[in-house]
Amino acid sequence: MKTEKLLSCEQCYKKNIKRAAEILKNGGIVAMPTETVYGLAASSYDDNAIGKVFAAKGRPQDNPLIVHISNMNMLSQVAKNIPERALLCAEKFWPGPLTMVLPKTEKTAKSVSAGLDTVAVRMPSHKVALDIIEAAELPLAAPSANTSGSPSPTTAKHVENDLDGKIDAIVFSDDCAVGVESTVITFCSNPPRLLRPGAVTAEALKKIIPDLVIDGAVLTEPEKNAKVESPGMKYKHYAPKTEAFLVEGNTKQFAKFVNAKQNAAAICFEEDSSLLKTPKIVYGNSQNESSLAHDVFSALRDIDKHHCERVYIHAPSKSGVGLAVYNRLLRASGFKVIKLPFIIGLTGPTGSGKSSLRAVAENNGFSVIDCDKIARLATVKGSAGLSALVKAFGNDILTTDNALNRKALAQKAFATKENTELLNKTILPFICELIHKEIEGLDRVILDAPTLFESGINSICNKTVAVLAAKETRLKRIMLRDSMDEVSALLRINAGKNDEFYKQNCDYIIYNNGTEKEFTEQFQKIIKEL
Ligand code: AMP
Ligand code: MG
Repeated sequence: MKTEKLLSCEQCYKKNIKRAAEILKNGGIVAMPTETVYGLAASSYDDNAIGKVFAAKGRPQDNPLIVHISNMNMLSQVAKNIPERALLCAEKFWPGPLTMVLPKTEKTAKSVSAGLDTVAVRMPSHKVALDIIEAAELPLAAPSANTSGSPSPTTAKHVENDLDGKIDAIVFSDDCAVGVESTVITFCSNPPRLLRPGAVTAEALKKIIPDLVIDGAVLTEPEKNAKVESPGMKYKHYAPKTEAFLVEGNTKQFAKFVNAKQNAAAICFEEDSSLLKTPKIVYGNSQNESSLAHDVFSALRDIDKHHCERVYIHAPSKSGVGLAVYNRLLRASGFKVIKLPFIIGLTGPTGSGKSSLRAVAENNGFSVIDCDKIARLATVKGSAGLSALVKAFGNDILTTDNALNRKALAQKAFATKENTELLNKTILPFICELIHKEIEGLDRVILDAPTLFESGINSICNKTVAVLAAKETRLKRIMLRDSMDEVSALLRINAGKNDEFYKQNCDYIIYNNGTEKEFTEQFQKIIKEL
C-alpha cells in the first residue's frame, strides 16, 4: 500500500486535514500527531477499520485502544454513567494527556475495547488531532503509531520508519511536546485506579481524587497469565534491540558503574555526560522530568545505532512525570533493574574507634566492607592487580615464588610522594572492581578505609564520614589494643593525618569521646539526614 504523506504546513493545512478526515470516514487508518505521541487513528464505530489498526501495528488482540474525542458531546456518545469526579477531571485536565476508563456505550465498536465493557477516552490538546476529529465528525480510536513493542513514536519520522507502506496516510507535524503516552485512570473500580502514569501526574489527580490508588502494575512486573486491569501493562514494550538495564543511583555511581562495563552504551542525564567514557545518548536533565519524558523514546530508538551489547539507562525519580518515564523504562528493560548501593566511606586516624562505628552501622542495616582486605585480595599472587604493580615498580616487589613482597613494595612506594601516588593510581581500579563485585545487590554499604582519600576510594562513595577522638583517648586505646608503650603509640599517632585533614575532607565527623549511646546517636542522625 502507498502511504500518503500529508503535511500540516499553513498553505496545505485545511486541504490535508480534510483529506485525513475523508480517509477515516471511508474506513481507512491515518497516523496523526497528538501532544503525547503520534497516534494511529481509525473510526471507533468501525470494527473493520479497527482491525486494520491492530494488523498494521501487530498489536495483541486483547490490548484495547483509546478513543479520542474533540468535544464533550462526543463523550456521551462513547461512554455512559459518567461519575461526577470524572467530569471534574475532564474539566481540569482536558484537552490534555489524561485518559479515563468509563462504562462503554453500545455505539463503540467491540474491538476498540478488546471485548471489555469499558472504554478508555481522552480529549487531546494537539490542534491537528482536534481538527481531524472535528472534520471526521467521529470519535477516533488511536493507539500509538508504532510497531507493537517498539518505542512509541514522538516524531513523524518514527512513524514512517515503523509503518510506511502499512497504513493509508501519515499527517506530518512537529515532534510531540509531552513525549510519553497519556495518563490512564479507571473510574470502573472503586476507588479509582491509576493504570498508567503520564504527564498528568498522580499528585495532580489526587487533588480531585484523594483516594486514587496506584495500580501495582505501574511499578512491578505482572505475573505471567495474571489478570491485569490495563492489558497494555503486561506486554514487553518500548524495548530497543540492544539489551537494556535500568540503573538506579547518583551521577558518580552511575558513571563509575557504566565505565567499568565492556561493549556498553548509556542513556543518561545531562549531568552524567562528561563523566561517561562509553557511547551515550543524553535524554534530559534529572531535575527536569518533562525533559526526560520528551526525549526518552527517541533515545530508546537511537541507542541501537551504537551497536553495543548492552545499554544502561540512568533511572529517573519516581515522582511527578518521572513516574511515567520510570514506568516506560522499566518495560523497555524487561524489568531488569540494577540498584547501585548507597556507599558511605568511613575513615579516621588510628585509635579513634572506627571499628566501634562498624558495629553500629551493621546494626543499622549497613553491610561493611573492609578495604584493607580488598586491597590484599586485589594483589594476590597471579592477579591482574599484582601484574600492574610489577609493571609500575619492577620485579623487586615480588618474593621468590612471585607473590607480593609487601615490605619491598612499601619501601619503594612510600619513598617519595610521587611513588605513593603511583601506587594508589595503579591499584585503585582493581580495588574498585572488587568492591563493586562485592556490593552488587546490596542496599547500603560502609567502606571501611583508613586511607579513604589517599587511596582514591572516596571517589566511589556517596558520602564520607570520619571518626575522631581526643588524642589522650586514642593514646590509651592504642597502647591497650596493640600492647604498645606510650612513646611508640605517640609516634604512630603523629605519623598519621591530623584532625584538620579529616574535617576538611569529610562530609561528616563523628566524635567518639563520650558514651556508646551518644556515638550511636550521631551516626543515626547522619543516616536520617541522608
Ligand atoms: P496505547 O494505545 O498504546 O497508548 O495503549 C492504550 C493503553 O490504554 C493500554 O495500556 C491499554 O491497556 C489501556 N486501555 C485502553 N482501554 C482500556 C480499558 N477499557 N480498560 C483498561 N485499560 C485500557
Ligand atoms: Mg502503544
